[in-house]
Amino acid sequence: MKKPALLIPAILCSTLCACANVHFGPYVEDFARQPLPDNDGWAALEGPVTGGSAASPENDVTVSTRKALFDAVAKAGTAPKIIRIQGTINLSTDDTGRELMEQDYAAPGYDFAAYMKTYAPAVWNTRLDEKDRPFKLSGPLEDARKASVHRQRQQVTLKLPSNTTLIGVGTDAKLIRGNVWIGAEAENVIIRNITFEDAFDYFPAWDPNDNFKLSADYPGCQTTYVDAATGPQQCPGGRWNSEYDNISINGGRRVWIDHCTFTDGERPDTLFPPVFPFPHNDITQKLQHHDGTVDITNAADLVTLSYNVFRDHDKTNLIGNSDNAKFDSGHLRVSFHHNLYEEIGQRMPRARFGMVHVYNNVYIGDASGADIPTRTPYQNHLAVLQYRGPAHIMRSVLGAGKESGLYSEANVFLIAHGGNEIAVASAGGDNFFDKGSLVNGQPLDITKANGKPLNATSTWTPTLYGNNKVLPASEVLEEVRSKAGAGKL
Ligand code: CA
Ligand code: CA
Repeated sequence: MKKPALLIPAILCSTLCACANVHFGPYVEDFARQPLPDNDGWAALEGPVTGGSAASPENDVTVSTRKALFDAVAKAGTAPKIIRIQGTINLSTDDTGRELMEQDYAAPGYDFAAYMKTYAPAVWNTRLDEKDRPFKLSGPLEDARKASVHRQRQQVTLKLPSNTTLIGVGTDAKLIRGNVWIGAEAENVIIRNITFEDAFDYFPAWDPNDNFKLSADYPGCQTTYVDAATGPQQCPGGRWNSEYDNISINGGRRVWIDHCTFTDGERPDTLFPPVFPFPHNDITQKLQHHDGTVDITNAADLVTLSYNVFRDHDKTNLIGNSDNAKFDSGHLRVSFHHNLYEEIGQRMPRARFGMVHVYNNVYIGDASGADIPTRTPYQNHLAVLQYRGPAHIMRSVLGAGKESGLYSEANVFLIAHGGNEIAVASAGGDNFFDKGSLVNGQPLDITKANGKPLNATSTWTPTLYGNNKVLPASEVLEEVRSKAGAGKL
């Protein structure tokens, strides 16, 4: 019998072949089906991290709106699912696609101008509590702010269940103006090839206690109020804080974040300077609308971050959010490799409790204006007010917090106007091991780290390198620059 096979016109063939997902010509790899390579960082400790790679055809979807994204997650639940992001998805939109902003979320009674007036340090900080600390904010304006936060969070937070791969299509997939949440119920999650931008909190909170100090070198700072120039309201401290990280791994485990880019997008921190007068106008007291990029907290565990770019952001990777956390000990194990940090302020990462492996990463920034230990806080405050440098003063790269074990290998620090005291700091912990890292071309010297002296020994030894060879620091910049970030898979 004669076979008709070769009679299909070329154009029809290409259509049919594409529909049937049959590969002709050069093989195109479907990155969405890739698991984490074996033994590639802490995420791999308990075996394969597959995300949604076993998804059935109906749980392999491409979405381009917030509604389709949330619907796809809800429909699949914990079944393996691949969710492909096409183009830009704004998480702060309603089901018609209209962007929701401050006025849409504001609860009755919320008024930012009134909030600033009521809680201004010149007003609120004139009395201290029995521990000589400013009182926690209270009253209808703070209640209205919290209610507004709740409304925004309901809309902009995407909770990922277990067995999910979230991946960008092509080179321009973005998730903006919201927060991806991987909670304690979730494990086996992969996020790749997506640019995350501007996890913007419309309702930042002023915390008068955050970094408050009865500091005698600030003129007029004392516990008792005398007049406008003399009293606790003249003491330094207080910070604006906001809610949203681009990704919060809040209790989740076995998570791989790879080839993503994180920035503040169209609303960088430079647009939001401090709002209170001296001495509450240090650059660290800017009206902060962004929190972390990827924060790992609440006994989260087994995370690998590889080939990501973090750019133009302040507080970037917090691992463990409190020295008093009850359940973090033995968890918070994270690997960072081949990530690029550019124009970042601090926390790359700042670690508590976890064994944290940091190798072949690149940190580029400018530390002019950063805290210099030889100055008093007051002198430093004045110096920073004069600061006219890049958006984010690089203050601190690797921070060894309580009971953390940072193991650093062959990282590259390029720090204008700074050096080892910016690269490494004791932040309540004292374990820090390094081999092969370069700070401005010279071997990292931990005796020059900021804070109390660090142990140069490690409490643990990494074994989970996957297919990666640790590159010598001299080769890292080129590797990371050419390969890290979204759009490079
Ligand atoms: Ca904070
Ligand atoms: Ca956070």
